Amino acid sequence: MESTGQLFVLSGPSGVGKSSLREGVRKRLPELAYSISHTTRAPRQGESEGRDYHFVSLETFLAMKEAGKFVECAQVHGNYYGTSREQLEKHLNDRRDLLLEIDVQGARQVKEHFPRACFIFVLPPNPETLEQRLVERGTEQAHDVEQRLEDSSRELLEESWYDYSIVNDVLEEAVEELVAIISANVASRRQSPESLEST
Ligand code: 5GP
Repeated sequence: MESTGQLFVLSGPSGVGKSSLREGVRKRLPELAYSISHTTRAPRQGESEGRDYHFVSLETFLAMKEAGKFVECAQVHGNYYGTSREQLEKHLNDRRDLLLEIDVQGARQVKEHFPRACFIFVLPPNPETLEQRLVERGTEQAHDVEQRLEDSSRELLEESWYDYSIVNDVLEEAVEELVAIISANVASRRQSPESLEST
């Protein structure tokens, strides 16, 4: 059977530290590829086009969606986000292992297409941490923080169907756990390279 790269999906509520985890893993596993999502959200200070996201208008996003350019997409905290089908297929066909950092709705869509992908959920040590981190990072207006916190209770209910859960209390420890999960999955897939799409 023709093997592809392995697909890893990382989800968790806003403020749980997914981006910091991804940065930690990027240093430890430099060969792992990342998909740059498209979003209708405005760039935050310090974010740049093509590095953090592809920032597009709502019109462009909806046209891309209509044209089937996204392997998954969802409206999250009032904005649209999507993973480019072309990027994902390119990495996997090049046999690169790929990490997607996407919300729970998008993760469900990926699960439908790629049931053998590896799904990892990031939990806060307690609910208060989310609010504290969101307020401290200061990237969202107060009403956006409120919306993200409100959405987090719904997102946390999805944790049960993920393959793995990681509690991000001490960042270095959570990075270590994520690296261990990814490395173990890559190794076992090398031994039995089944299609990502078969159940
Ligand atoms: P943020 O605005 O904080 O960068 O991201 C908000 C949420 O959107 C996070 O939960 C993040 O994981 C999710 N997200 C980022 N890119 C994508 C994507 O391509 N698809 C989906 N479904 N969610 C995404």
